Amino acid sequence: MPIPTENVGSLPRPTRLQEAIEAYDAGKISLEELQREQDLACQDSIERMEATGQPIVTDGEQRASSFATYPLTDTLAGTGLADNLAPDGQKFAIFADGHHRQLPRLTGGPFRYKTYAGDLLARSLPMAIKPMKQAVIAPSMLSLLYPLERDLPDYSREQFLADLCDECERDIRKCFEVGAKRVSIDFTEGRLACRNDPDNPWTGQKMLDQFIELNNRVINRFTPNERRSIGVHTCPGGDCDSTHSADVDYAELLPKMFQMNAGYFLMQMASEPDKKYVYDLVGRYSREDANGVPQVCFIGVCDPLNPEVESPEQIAEALQTAAKYIPKERLGSTDDCGFSPFSVDKKPKHGTPDFARDIAFQKIAARVKGTQIASEALGVA
Ligand SMILES: [Zn+2]
Repeated sequence: MPIPTENVGSLPRPTRLQEAIEAYDAGKISLEELQREQDLACQDSIERMEATGQPIVTDGEQRASSFATYPLTDTLAGTGLADNLAPDGQKFAIFADGHHRQLPRLTGGPFRYKTYAGDLLARSLPMAIKPMKQAVIAPSMLSLLYPLERDLPDYSREQFLADLCDECERDIRKCFEVGAKRVSIDFTEGRLACRNDPDNPWTGQKMLDQFIELNNRVINRFTPNERRSIGVHTCPGGDCDSTHSADVDYAELLPKMFQMNAGYFLMQMASEPDKKYVYDLVGRYSREDANGVPQVCFIGVCDPLNPEVESPEQIAEALQTAAKYIPKERLGSTDDCGFSPFSVDKKPKHGTPDFARDIAFQKIAARVKGTQIASEALGVA
């Protein structure tokens, strides 16, 4: 079987869509008008992703407020926030360029999603010819909605986590029910949990172990056969062409990350300074048998934060090097992250989101080609 290749999920929203989001937040256009713009952006994303040759496509998450907040709010500004949430939650990440992103705050129970990823996917599936995948948010990220230091009076942390796991499970199942071929769980907070940033209190609470345990509570509800198509994505963040935890040594994260019983992992690696070091960690800690499934390791070979397009030859070489450390039957290729996990993202290093979209498709096409070259070289084509 050739080396599989898959993107994480998101693409930059076109300038036109980002302007429509702003107009919707300002009450100048209706939700229906915003959805029309989202539909156009999804159609364009799917057609152009299909044209890259990638076997499984996404709609670029053009309908999502962000990879983390799509279940909770229509827009990043908080328009259409779900019940029992206030907009002023904790910062979940402070990025290297100084900007930050914030989560809503839970004010009481019960915790319920207002939008499931499958609801968004169902609107895009009729636009696609190729099979589609869908990204969902990890329970570990949404566990940060609950106040860090105290319990809510009428809604204990345990009850919240139980409800959260049910919602995350339902989110994944719904994706498969409407027709997703694969579902990957975004776990950007994993690496950030090792950071201990005094300006961002939760990162100093050594939460990685509980994140892994919480995510496994959901992942373990699926059969080995289902888990073959359930992945986990790790990265040091990717917003406004900046990262939040690139300085964390992967050795702190990867041995624990592979304890999650997912069938595949989409891992940022193209922008790592010492790739052999991280390939070696992946080879050592990924498991041949994770409670009934082999863990397929998708190596990041394209950097969505850098406008320079990787060549197919460069990508093939990275995969051939990785194959020295990771069994080729368990090797895949991916991008380091989504190309724009947040709906409002000007892509400053690219100049404009529209140009960043053009670059994204070029990168995906190069990845498809480079992966094919590597498959031939490794004798698995
Ligand atoms: Zn990412």
